[in-house]
Amino acid sequence: MRVGGRAEWLLEPANPEELRKAVVAAREDGFEPRILGGGANLIIDDGVLSGVVITTDRMKRLFRPIVMNAGLVEEPDARIAPASREDGLRFVSWAGTTHQKLLTSASALGWSGLEGLAGVPGHVGGGVAMNAGGKWGGMWDSVERVLVVDEHGELVELQRDQCSPRYRNGGLGRKIVASVLLKFSLDSVPAVKERTREFLLAKNKVQPVSLWSAGCIFKNPDPEKSGGRTAGQLVDAVGLKGTHIGDAEITDLHGNFFVNRGHATASDLLALIERARDVVADRTGVVLENEVKVWRSSD
Ligand SMILES: Cc1cc2nc3c(=O)[nH]c(=O)nc-3n(C[C@H](O)[C@H](O)[C@H](O)COP(=O)(O)OP(=O)(O)OC[C@H]3O[C@@H](n4cnc5c(N)ncnc54)[C@H](O)[C@@H]3O)c2cc1C
Repeated sequence: MRVGGRAEWLLEPANPEELRKAVVAAREDGFEPRILGGGANLIIDDGVLSGVVITTDRMKRLFRPIVMNAGLVEEPDARIAPASREDGLRFVSWAGTTHQKLLTSASALGWSGLEGLAGVPGHVGGGVAMNAGGKWGGMWDSVERVLVVDEHGELVELQRDQCSPRYRNGGLGRKIVASVLLKFSLDSVPAVKERTREFLLAKNKVQPVSLWSAGCIFKNPDPEKSGGRTAGQLVDAVGLKGTHIGDAEITDLHGNFFVNRGHATASDLLALIERARDVVADRTGVVLENEVKVWRSSD
């Protein structure tokens, strides 16, 4: 959203082991670190953010594992990489790989499974933590294993069935995603490229993708409570589209997309979110829950 101030401490690990060490170092100094992926689902408070931020920005490795039972930390020898696009059908992705790079790499091989992430910005670690996706599927549809830094500061591999991802929540609690093993199914290169393009175009039609946003601000409520209406439809129904506080604005195109028109502050955005939540609750009885994550200096 291009708001927010500065981090007191910023650590930039380059691989899973450095991530683990960074987490342990922060905790030893009494800080629970905040993990920054692509920042596509975040509002960061104005001013100085106290404590430690760890960015996954340098953890960009994406590779094809040779031995399926090998740990996710090990990088295979590139000389014996699988020769054909049929082999393996798996990528190991470190947390800082962008969704964009993952989709481009998969579609170049005709590997299908994550086309639903077309137009969803962010890093793979953030995508796993948020269970990013939409009506055409999402990240956890392809997760086979995930390597996390756990509560004790250890790198631990979890199988898919040890995890309980749900709507916009990877279900990992305080665990930090270091790396993930993703499984695809084989399709043709043109088919995967076409599907990715089609999903992207459909998304771009209904979302103001070129403006500064964090995607959807609110989670869609339980349809039984909202009469089947999405969060965006509720914001629209109470007439809030186009409302703004300073340069923070609810877009005309999509009631769940709040944008920074240029000079909004985090305070403007947070006030606009609270106003929308209050008005929707007053008029419809539905209390909307944030999908966007908010980092406050006081937390
Ligand atoms: C234009 C636009 C369209 C969007 N469309 C969609 C959509 O269709 N579907 C959808 O689901 N989302 C959508 N989003 C939201 C966003 O793209 C996703 O939530 C994405 O997964 C965020 O990834 P990130 O790396 O940017 O995470 P960040 O914003 O950096 O972080 C989000 C949360 O994940 C945590 N996190 C990040 N990395 C890790 C890690 N390695 N381990 C543990 N926790 C971590 C952070 O601490 C934070 O709590 C959209 C956003 C924009 C701007």
